[in-house]
Amino acid sequence: MNTINIAIDGPAGAGKSTIAKMVSAKLGYIYVDTGALYRTIALYITENNIPDDEIVKSLDGAEVSLKFIDGAQRVYLGDRDVSDLIRTPEISMAASKVSTIPAVRDYLFEMQKKIARENNVIMDGRDIGTVVLPDAQVKIFLTASAEERASRRYKELSDKLGCPCYEEILSDIIERDRNDMNRKTAPLRQAEDAVLVDTTNLGLEESAEEISRIISEKLSSGGKM
Ligand code: C5P
Repeated sequence: MNTINIAIDGPAGAGKSTIAKMVSAKLGYIYVDTGALYRTIALYITENNIPDDEIVKSLDGAEVSLKFIDGAQRVYLGDRDVSDLIRTPEISMAASKVSTIPAVRDYLFEMQKKIARENNVIMDGRDIGTVVLPDAQVKIFLTASAEERASRRYKELSDKLGCPCYEEILSDIIERDRNDMNRKTAPLRQAEDAVLVDTTNLGLEESAEEISRIISEKLSSGGKM
């Protein structure tokens, strides 16, 4: 089966997941949040106190999997649904660290490829257009200023977790950007054939409309630019 693959990459807080969810619901595609996979590995390592020099060996026992329930992604560690547990600032930072390990990326690579081979997907992450789905018919690089991304995260987290400090969120975002852009394996960067969308001054609806417009334009012109 020939599937349609749409890759959305970009830094933390650019709006990838919210926008990708909106657009995939409209298209009837599966939305795959690959950051959740790195977060789940980070949770596994944290919960089991696995030292750095044993991380690679420990991956055999990790048992990370995804399920799609009514189109919504849930992520599992063994038979435990950890989709909500992985959304803390500590796990965000730990995910950014484990994602620099090539063996971790290899471990998750085939899982991501298989979902995209078997389904029409919008897949978001950091290396989807460059490494995981280099032949995706549509590639988008979604970004926004670090301050705007931090203030969005601040609003999201203060609703859920009480009130983390804005300055702390901003410095976490800047540190994660630095880790993600400067790592040796599969760093965060815009694929040559990706369309750049800056959402700093766009609301969610406007951003989703812009992404939908790009997708339909690319798909009607045969996919690649
Ligand atoms: O997207 P999210 O913020 O949930 O991702 C958490 C971390 O996982 C990122 O900061 C990044 O280091 C890593 N990641 C990655 N490659 C992806 C998706 C996420 O390295 N495709």
